[in-house]
Amino acid sequence: MIDDRLQRIVIVGGGTAGWMAAAAIGKIAGRLPGLSIELVESDEIGTVGVGEATIPQIVLFNTMLGIDEAEFVRETNATYKLGIEFVDWTRIGHRYVHPFGFYGLDMLGVEFHHFWLKARALGDPTPLDAYSLGIVGAQRGRFAHPRPDQPNSPLSKIGYAFQFDAALYARYLRKLAEASGVRRTEGRIVSVAQDDGNGHVTAVRLESGAEIAGDLFIDCSGFRGLLIEGAMGSGFTDWTDWLPCDRAVAVPCTLGGDRVPLTRSTARSAGWQWRIPLQHRIGNGYVYSSAHLSDDEAAATLLANLDGAPLAEPRQLRFRAGHRDRAWIGNVVALGLAGGFLEPLESTSIHLVQSGIARLMALFPTRSFDQTAIERFNRDTAQEYLDIRDFLVLHYKATERDDSAFWNYCRMLAPPEGLRDKLAMFRSSGRIFREHQELFTETSWLSVMSGQGIEPQGYHPIADLLSDEEALQRLKHIAQVIEQTANAMPLQDDYLRQIGCDLTPARQAS
Ligand SMILES: Cc1cc2nc3c(=O)[nH]c(=O)nc-3n(C[C@H](O)[C@H](O)[C@H](O)COP(=O)(O)OP(=O)(O)OC[C@H]3O[C@@H](n4cnc5c(N)ncnc54)[C@H](O)[C@@H]3O)c2cc1C
Repeated sequence: MIDDRLQRIVIVGGGTAGWMAAAAIGKIAGRLPGLSIELVESDEIGTVGVGEATIPQIVLFNTMLGIDEAEFVRETNATYKLGIEFVDWTRIGHRYVHPFGFYGLDMLGVEFHHFWLKARALGDPTPLDAYSLGIVGAQRGRFAHPRPDQPNSPLSKIGYAFQFDAALYARYLRKLAEASGVRRTEGRIVSVAQDDGNGHVTAVRLESGAEIAGDLFIDCSGFRGLLIEGAMGSGFTDWTDWLPCDRAVAVPCTLGGDRVPLTRSTARSAGWQWRIPLQHRIGNGYVYSSAHLSDDEAAATLLANLDGAPLAEPRQLRFRAGHRDRAWIGNVVALGLAGGFLEPLESTSIHLVQSGIARLMALFPTRSFDQTAIERFNRDTAQEYLDIRDFLVLHYKATERDDSAFWNYCRMLAPPEGLRDKLAMFRSSGRIFREHQELFTETSWLSVMSGQGIEPQGYHPIADLLSDEEALQRLKHIAQVIEQTANAMPLQDDYLRQIGCDLTPARQAS
């Protein structure tokens, strides 16, 4: 039998994607006999490093790596995140939260929100937010871990993620990766050697003249896609028409305002502004459409809307919504920004790195590089991007805003097919279906469709099996239980102090 097991994996790039890949592959495959893993990064080129908000799947990634959560939170200046608050998206003055976790309690085999729709039809004005422990807790600055051991408590189904300093996260992962045997080389790659026959990448050459050879190359080189585009010419699926924001300006500021465990997204005239509170500072940025706003105007708007004093010069970033036509070609697999980018509205980029790693590990190749596995990887990757795209477009499309050319463009946009079907189904009957394991659950779709002002004309007929009085009574009780449970959760700041985080004012001003 021919031994065609991989012997050398080369990871190109040491941003969040590169070090996530290095830590995970080191942990899972690092002990395979004869396998070496090497990461190349250039200090001179640097990283994007603004990815600060995550979604709950990261808890699984960290757990897989054996990370001690309290240590991780201390070392990355992390805070907890229970959802995203959307301000001024539906109309100016309106706000709602997209929470992790669930709303209320399903009854009679029917999702909770049908009972909520029934109650609304009966004149009960209680907002959907009141039935989410994540939302009510977060709005009071409170945080608690899920308690699956208490199945009757809403705490059993709360979900959480983190907000952290991305550069510190990469540094933290680097320690883990190096401990599992990953070698790091610093240097700028200036050329790529390819096999004349099959076009596979055989080595990358550094400015120093050194050459790093490999069997499998993981391209984590950021937007430039050094290998996947530069060498393999993948091509790019461009979704700018649906997601017109193509720039961001970012700046951290000192802590000010509240530190609720939420990422905040405030709609502005040509995009939206993020606010991500960490332990020691707030991360801010304005994501905007360059067709509708100049860089100077964006920076001025951002600086005029900070909760604290800026801690650096505003930094401009350019991007294009979409993904590589093929994320895996030959012996090159792209992860992170090298593979694609969908704006950070729902904090999905770090997750896409994570799911790309999971897919790669499931289809871990030999040097024969089975084309069927490659095609599977590419199909699933493209589908994941597409599903997320539709969810992002929903936020822009379902708006009442007509106060700028940007919002008029978004509101008038013809939605992609999948989104159009979901909108039609929700409008007519309040029903939501999650397609083929897509990332965002029914809860997420409900939250944003309802939050963006879409009013279903009906609800599930089974909800009428409860009498009007019974339905109203049960909903009132659920809201009370949520309220009481939220009030018993610790304040996030107290919790962070309890696990050893330094929240003293001196550090916060630094
Ligand atoms: C405005 C904005 C906001 C974002 N917010 C979020 C968020 O809230 N949540 C989230 O999940 N994600 C967010 N992201 C995405 C997130 O920042 C990235 O997905 C994540 O940081 C991964 O980046 P990366 O490692 O792929 O690329 P990069 O950080 O660009 O790293 C590229 C690496 O490649 C190396 N490299 C490149 N060329 C060469 C060369 N020639 N030789 C040697 N090395 C080279 C560089 O040195 C660097 O180490 C955001 C992105 C942007 C643009």
